[in-house]
Amino acid sequence: MLNIVLFGPPGAGKGTQAEKLVKKYQLVHLSTGDIFRANIKNGTELGKLAKGYMDKGELVPDEVTIKMLESEVGKYAYPKGFIFDGFPRTTAQAQALDKFLATRNLSITITLALEVDEEELTKRILLRGKESGRADDQDENIVRNRVKEYNNKTAPLKEFYLKQEKLKTIQGAGGIDDIFTELCKMIEANAKTV
Ligand code: AMP
Repeated sequence: MLNIVLFGPPGAGKGTQAEKLVKKYQLVHLSTGDIFRANIKNGTELGKLAKGYMDKGELVPDEVTIKMLESEVGKYAYPKGFIFDGFPRTTAQAQALDKFLATRNLSITITLALEVDEEELTKRILLRGKESGRADDQDENIVRNRVKEYNNKTAPLKEFYLKQEKLKTIQGAGGIDDIFTELCKMIEANAKTV
């Protein structure tokens, strides 16, 4: 199985690249942000809880997020692999993911980190907000808070995957197709099963 963590700050292009990778390698795409948004749309209890955090640009608590992610993974009996997009975002989530996958004799194959500088991120997200109507993409204070949460809680995870020798970093500032080609090269050089 090919299990990819797509890593990077909000606005780095994770969602765009995930869609392309999913098509090419026939993976299951699990975006925790998308799952939370679907829950908000459907008015579930989980959605109501998550909304309070998302509206402030804060992370949803680990316990809730981990439980949700595990239940999503459990829905697929024989996938070719997963692409985790926007998860894990904390060390506790990364540890929980490793532990959970191990119970199924699985592991993360590679962590692909997209790097984009902060000013460019804010610009991109605000532009996306105008097009998509996503509330947390439209308010500059919320956007800056999300980037701050990323720097404080998520960026340290690079060290976590570096220690496991799974981290591959790529500049996320170029063209979509060029970045995609780079990502595929990294996957194919590192994953024996592809
Ligand atoms: P995203 O669509 O990945 O930018 O996520 C949008 C929002 O959903 C984030 O700002 C968080 O509030 C919440 N969220 C998504 N994924 C996670 C996660 N793994 N842990 C905690 N909160 C999350």
